[in-house]
Amino acid sequence: MAIVLGAIADDFTGATDLANNLVRAGMRTLQVIGVPRKTLDLADTDAVVVALKSRSCPAQDAVNDSLAALDWLRSQSVRQVFFKYCSTFDSTDNGNIGPVADALLEQLGARQTVMVPAFPANGRTVYQGHLFVGDRLLNDSGMEHHPLNPMTDADLVRTLSRQTPHAVGLLARPTLASGPEHARAHLDKLESQGVRHVICDTLDETDLTVLAATLARSALVTGGSGLGQTLPAQYRRLGWLENVDNAGQLAPASGAPLVLSGSCSRATLAQIEHFLSRFEGFALDPVALNDSDDQINEALAFARERLNSADPVLIYASASPDKVKRAQEQLGAAAAGERVERALARLARELVAEGVGKLLVAGGETSGAVVSALGIGELRIGGQIDPGVPWTQTHLPGRKAPLSLALKSGNFGGVDFFSRAFEVLS
Ligand code: ADP
Repeated sequence: MAIVLGAIADDFTGATDLANNLVRAGMRTLQVIGVPRKTLDLADTDAVVVALKSRSCPAQDAVNDSLAALDWLRSQSVRQVFFKYCSTFDSTDNGNIGPVADALLEQLGARQTVMVPAFPANGRTVYQGHLFVGDRLLNDSGMEHHPLNPMTDADLVRTLSRQTPHAVGLLARPTLASGPEHARAHLDKLESQGVRHVICDTLDETDLTVLAATLARSALVTGGSGLGQTLPAQYRRLGWLENVDNAGQLAPASGAPLVLSGSCSRATLAQIEHFLSRFEGFALDPVALNDSDDQINEALAFARERLNSADPVLIYASASPDKVKRAQEQLGAAAAGERVERALARLARELVAEGVGKLLVAGGETSGAVVSALGIGELRIGGQIDPGVPWTQTHLPGRKAPLSLALKSGNFGGVDFFSRAFEVLS
């Protein structure tokens, strides 16, 4: 069967989050990093998620990249396109959600799309067009202080209206609660009035199910990963998607286990402490990570001595806020981060070449650095370790068996994540 869903995600971990939900709902999913430049083997694939870096770049760049992704997805004959952004609607008055949605609609020749950012399982809900994070309105949730896209208005109809010249409407809960036929009729009525974008209320999983039933045939849907939980069942109902036993089935994992961590988030620090109570680790110090390579060589030697053991080892730069602050004062925040990312990326490259086959990386930026150092173009999405974080697999040139890779952004995962991840794999 052909590819059913083609998604365009505005950042890397958001792409994985959506892909993870699709797999859990029974779609065999491939995540590609940027628009693929080579022909991919898409047999046994139901959904492809293209991960872009288009959340915070200038709107025109986001539009261009998204249209390139759309062209590629259409060349794969996908039945539905999904523009994925953050469940907190991360954007500014300059974009990028409005401009990208407008460009995609135009290119698809469609007249209307919906915005479904909600992810009730993670406490993101929408009521009367207002986005809540837990029991707080978006603009009172901490997101109003975001360094790149401060969210100061929880009214998404108003927020999106500042990003697009077109009319923005609302599909409110009472209409949604009366079922897909009523919801569809309301959308059609808005469309006849020239309303191009419709913010959708969503309080719970039932609303997501009604929305999926209403929207499965639309050329373009937009939203967070929550909608990815309920669309696959509708594709099956339409006969577009076959039933598979285990959509997250990966090849057996092989090779040595390694954890690399550059995340200094609270959850990661607790995971490291827990891991070190059972296994060994090597701490990198950004200040000592100078050009002489001494510390990297020590870390390599540490890992090499242990690669033949079944126990995972950890190499980490992660440190408490006061230590990070000291390093930043000495080196500058950007330079300290870059040093760490470069070091971890190099360790990944060398140790994967020397036999690491199960690699767990902690940190969003850190994961990006490792993925590009390894030259990874696509990831087959496997089973979930913890909400939002699946195991993935990729083929690398010169390696017979696939590399198993888990990429964890800062605050994800339970306290025993680092050790349990490898238990899940075996
Ligand atoms: P998270 O997902 O937790 O935000 P990221 O990898 O995205 O993690 O970001 C963490 C940043 O902190 C990276 O740029 C990393 O290189 C940097 N970093 C890691 N350890 C240190 C340290 N000890 N001192 C200063 N910066 C660090």
